[in-house]
Amino acid sequence: PTSEESLVDLLREAADRFSSHDALDFYGTTTSYADLADQVRRAAEALRRLGVGRGDRVALVLPNCPQHVVAFYAVLRLGAVVVEHNPLYTEQELTHQLADHGARVAVVWDRMAPLVLRTAGATAVETVLAVDLSRALPRLKRWALRLPLPAARATRAAMTAPAPGALSWERQVAAAGPLAADHPAPGPDDTALLQYTGGTTGTPKGAILTHRNLRANAAQGRAWVPGLRDGAETVYAVLPLFHAYGLTLCLTFSVSIGATLVLFPRFDVDQTLAAVRRRPPTFLPAVPPIYEKLATAARERGVDLSSARYAISGAMALPPATVRLWESVTGGLLVEGYGMTETSPVALGNPVSPARRPGTVGVPFPSTEIRIVDPEEPTRDRAPGERGELLIRGPQVFTGYWRRPEETAAVLLPDGWLRTGDIVVIDDDGFVTVVDRIKELIITGGFNVYPSEVEEALRRVPGVLDAAAVGMPCAGGGEEVVAAVVLHRDCTTDEAGIRTACRTHLTGYKVPRRVVVVTDLPRSQIGKVLRREVRDRLLAG
Ligand code: ATP
Ligand code: MG
Repeated sequence: PTSEESLVDLLREAADRFSSHDALDFYGTTTSYADLADQVRRAAEALRRLGVGRGDRVALVLPNCPQHVVAFYAVLRLGAVVVEHNPLYTEQELTHQLADHGARVAVVWDRMAPLVLRTAGATAVETVLAVDLSRALPRLKRWALRLPLPAARATRAAMTAPAPGALSWERQVAAAGPLAADHPAPGPDDTALLQYTGGTTGTPKGAILTHRNLRANAAQGRAWVPGLRDGAETVYAVLPLFHAYGLTLCLTFSVSIGATLVLFPRFDVDQTLAAVRRRPPTFLPAVPPIYEKLATAARERGVDLSSARYAISGAMALPPATVRLWESVTGGLLVEGYGMTETSPVALGNPVSPARRPGTVGVPFPSTEIRIVDPEEPTRDRAPGERGELLIRGPQVFTGYWRRPEETAAVLLPDGWLRTGDIVVIDDDGFVTVVDRIKELIITGGFNVYPSEVEEALRRVPGVLDAAAVGMPCAGGGEEVVAAVVLHRDCTTDEAGIRTACRTHLTGYKVPRRVVVVTDLPRSQIGKVLRREVRDRLLAG
């Protein structure tokens, strides 16, 4: 595939080549590629009748489900822009994003329709199309009830209220004929997606991604995993499609190789293993905690995961122990890549072969260039072995943040280089290791402390399950290193003991001045530890 056409062409090609092949599988209900293309044409016509046109933003507030995929491609077909949202956002989070991008039409999980309707006035939303997921609801309900408060509270409230004022997505689509074949299609440089960043370091920013960006990344992904066969793979979407990583590695990638995408509204070990028995995965993109849980449960219950030839981890550091566990249980490969919303999202990856190097994020993707520079002076390159900020240039690099010219100018250098804000180090063979984010460095007594290094030392202390290191204001001005740790139930080590144990691995100024025991660490929607929230909690006492 070239990167010259749109994502819509990729779906058309798949529908031509693999028309009767299953495109989607949702709890065993399947949709062929021909059916998917047909539903997309009807949904596009329904949206057109509601006034959606080129460049208009359309909000999707949906878990992974077939309607999500149909709505995604229907919006793109019109040359309009998809904006993905976590369907479990609170009213405040949702209002903020809807107001930011100004969509007039929203396609939402019906239980969230009242909440989205309530935002009208504060946002530009005029039409809410409610997607009926009642058939999948027993499972979705379990999902919603297991959420952390306050998301669960907001969702439960929304789930009990009916949604007057919303239109039925199913009825609108059924009533529409197919979109006229000559309706103008999007071009490669049209915006396809306004994708909010993960929100790890602050309020999420809307990254503008074009068809060319996203197609390029699908083609690069294809070159990355050469063993994949067109029309013969089964991709598991256990990651949310509303996140950059899941959207590309699961959805657009699956369509680009004519695979069957098995949709899970939320990652759940039991549901995933039940699906493995029915339709075993061959390609499984996920994050480290998911691989840990799946491999452990599959081993305990004797579930055969040997179909999973390729597993691709990203978004956060992949511990080498997780690689050993996964590969011993499945016999397949688990390789780590690196990316960000701003790079559609993947930019580096390990070779998908025994040449991969656990602990590193690998080498640049095809047609992707990198530099490692002095963050204070990004024109000055750093030598192999020296830490510096990673810069990326390639066809997958975004065009800017939505209505944030200053933030865009701060990360997009005039010659096309993207500043990632991540500190990395490259070895003599060109393999890159991620150290930390610049924003999260702790500066204490004039020294830089990398929180990941402190956390690694803490995790080595027997009884410490998880740790987060942050910089806290200290008496004489400046910062000091403070750690929050989660301990194993049976752990008998106290704060002083943990600090002493750290000294074996850390120089004095890196050893946390204080260690606070907590029951859990706050995490982002995809599971990253939110150090800024750890800091806020510690400040609040
Ligand atoms: P925000 O930009 O809103 O603060 P975010 O940076 O977490 O949130 P994403 O675009 O989803 O949003 O994540 C990209 C970031 O994830 C990268 O900049 C990097 O810090 C981190 N990351 C991605 N892959 C890896 C990896 N393999 N190992 C370590 N960190 C990674
Ligand atoms: Mg970021």
